Amino acid sequence: MFGVVPKVLWQKIYPSDDENRIRLGLNSLLIDTGKERLLVDTGIGPDLKRRLWEFYSVERDPGLLGALEQIGYAAGDIDYVINTHLHFDHCGGNTYHTEGEEHVPTFPNAAYVIQKCEWENGLNPCTRDKPSYFAPYFLPLQGHGQLQLVEGDSEIVPGVEAVMATGHTSCHQCVKVSSQGRTLFFLGDMVPTSGHVGLPYIMSYDLYPQETMENKQRFFGLAMKEDWIVAFNHDPDRFFGRIVKKDGKFVSEDLTAVP
Ligand SMILES: [Zn+2]
Repeated sequence: MFGVVPKVLWQKIYPSDDENRIRLGLNSLLIDTGKERLLVDTGIGPDLKRRLWEFYSVERDPGLLGALEQIGYAAGDIDYVINTHLHFDHCGGNTYHTEGEEHVPTFPNAAYVIQKCEWENGLNPCTRDKPSYFAPYFLPLQGHGQLQLVEGDSEIVPGVEAVMATGHTSCHQCVKVSSQGRTLFFLGDMVPTSGHVGLPYIMSYDLYPQETMENKQRFFGLAMKEDWIVAFNHDPDRFFGRIVKKDGKFVSEDLTAVP
């Protein structure tokens, strides 16, 4: 998870188990504009292969639909699903497996917003990235007429914008929410946890780590200038933070507990 950063450094923040695994979250973001409901990323879903389930020691209680239900939303209430990219841990809940052996969209009324080039990569992944893509999580969206491909930075609805932030994949996008003069920025896998704010902390999964680093620098500059709230999609505890510089290094201040 930390690329070239030695374990002696990262284990201070993220202690690992005997298998060298660390605790991670699968955080989706729900945006309710009052008019539309948008969901950003859908986690690992219910249909991950058993081998991978055990490999990653997945805990899934109550799951995405259960979590939505707890705050008063049903699958049919979601108007848009935005996938930052199509790795299985970000779109696994896009679809579910029916008795009839096929995958159908989990959110029957939603348009699924995906970068066109990420869609193409997902259908023809490079060898290095192939294990991360599972077509049944996104291919059925096309057949059901629920696929909305976008190219580059795109406004989805007023106040919610998909913003290209490449590096993790060549077409990874973040999501920017603007409301009442404030900005919330969902970082996706550009910065998966608050422990990845330091510039060299980049996952080995990234196809273009140099691009990730340049984009982190660029977006952190904006985040500090405009005092953004940032959201971490894989942090197990700290979902929201703000970026500050301490002793010349980027760090995040936790905002999760702040109402
Ligand atoms: Zn991920």
